[in-house]
Amino acid sequence: MQKVIVSLCLLAFVAPAMAQSQSQATEKVVVLHATHLLDVEAGALVSPGEVLVRGNRIVEAGRAVSRPTGAEVVDLGGATLMPGLIDVHVHLFLHPGAEDLQTVVESVPERVILAEQAAKADLMAGYTAERDMGTEGAGSADTAIRNAINKGIIPGPRMRISGNAVDILGGHEDANHFNPAQHISSNASYANNAAELVEVIRQQIKEGADFIKIYESGRDKLVEGRLQTPWQFTREQLQAAVAETARVGTTVGVHCTGEPGALWAAQAGVASIDHAYQLSPETMKLMHDKQIYAVPTFAIAEYFAEGAASIGTAESDTALQILHAAEFKKQLAAGVPIAVGSDVGPFPHGTQARELELMVQYGMPAADVLKADLLNGAKLLGWAGEIGQLKPGFLADVIAVDGNPLENISAVKAVRFVMKDGVVYRR
Ligand SMILES: [Zn+2]
Repeated sequence: MQKVIVSLCLLAFVAPAMAQSQSQATEKVVVLHATHLLDVEAGALVSPGEVLVRGNRIVEAGRAVSRPTGAEVVDLGGATLMPGLIDVHVHLFLHPGAEDLQTVVESVPERVILAEQAAKADLMAGYTAERDMGTEGAGSADTAIRNAINKGIIPGPRMRISGNAVDILGGHEDANHFNPAQHISSNASYANNAAELVEVIRQQIKEGADFIKIYESGRDKLVEGRLQTPWQFTREQLQAAVAETARVGTTVGVHCTGEPGALWAAQAGVASIDHAYQLSPETMKLMHDKQIYAVPTFAIAEYFAEGAASIGTAESDTALQILHAAEFKKQLAAGVPIAVGSDVGPFPHGTQARELELMVQYGMPAADVLKADLLNGAKLLGWAGEIGQLKPGFLADVIAVDGNPLENISAVKAVRFVMKDGVVYRR
C-alpha cells in the first residue's frame, strides 16, 4: 500500500509537466465564424461574430479574431454564436411515458442506460451544463453518468449532481398508497429530523453528490385560487442541512412550490427555490437580498397540463400554471434572481429550450431570460467565470443557433452546432 502511495505522489509531480508539453503540441486551434455573436452581459449581438478556441478554452471572441497558422476555420454562415445553454433543473434518470411508475418497474442498470441517452440528447440540443435534481430512486447512479462524461467516455453536458435527493417518510417523493406488503421504495432518501438530514447529506456526499436536493413542499392543491402545499422540513431542520452543506463547501437546492416552506428555505439560506409557484413578499425580499434563485420550471407544468391522465388533473394543472405566471411577474418586479430550469425528464430530453420561450411568454424580456440562463445558471452551478459567456479564458462551450434569440427566443430551439470543452459534438 505504502509503495503505491509513494509512486502516486511522484506521478502527481511529473504528470502535469508532461501533460503541459503534450497539450501544447497537440492542442487544436479552431476559429468559429458566424454572422452574429451574442454578448450576454450587454444583451446585444456583435456582427460578425468570431471565437478563437485553443484546446478547451476560448482565447479571443468578438467581431474578428486572429487566425493562427494551421487553425481550422468553421464557417457557420448566417447563424448566431452563443454560449452553450444551461439547465439548472433536469432529471437525466426520468423519461416520458412511464411517469412515476418507471422508478418502480425499471432497474437501476436500465435507468443508467436511459440516462446516458438523455445526457446525449440534452447536449445535442445545445445544453452544455446542467444540474441534475435527483435520480428519483436510482441512488447515486448519477455519479457514474457525470464521471463518464468528464472522462470523455459518453457525450453529455457538464454535470452538477445531487444523487437521490432527500424527502420525509410519506412525503412528496415517497411511494405512497401502494400495497404495503410490496415494500415499494421511496424515490428519495428519507430524513425526518435535523440529525437524519445531516446523516443523509453526509452519505450522499460520500457517494459523489455535488450538492443536495431537498423536497420542502408538496403535494400541491389549489384552494380558492391560493396554493396550498404542506411543508416537509422546519426552518431549523433546513438550517441544519444548509450548515452541513456549507461545512463542505456546497449548497442546498429545494423543491418548493409555496409558503411557508419557501420562507423557511430562504431564511435557512438555500441556493435555489425550484418551482416557486407562489412566494410571499417577505420571501421575495429575502431572495433578492440574499441572491437566492427562483427556478420557475414552466415547461414541466405545461407538459403535465397538456398530457394529464384525467381532465380533472389537466384543469388543476392549467389553473396552477396561470397562477404561477401571474406570480412570476410579481417575482420579477420584486427583483428575485431567476435561473432557468425546465425539469426535463418526464417530457423528452433535448426539447427543454421550451422553458425559455415560456419565460418570455410570461413577461420576461428575451435578453433577461438569456442572462438568467447563462449568467445566473453559471453562478448557481458554481462555474461563474468559466461558462455562460464567450470571453477569453472561458471554457469553450459554444453553440450556434439560427436567427436572433434577442428578437425571437425560439432561436434557441434551432441549434445547428455544439462545441463543449473545445470538442465539436454537432455540426
Ligand atoms: Zn424536478
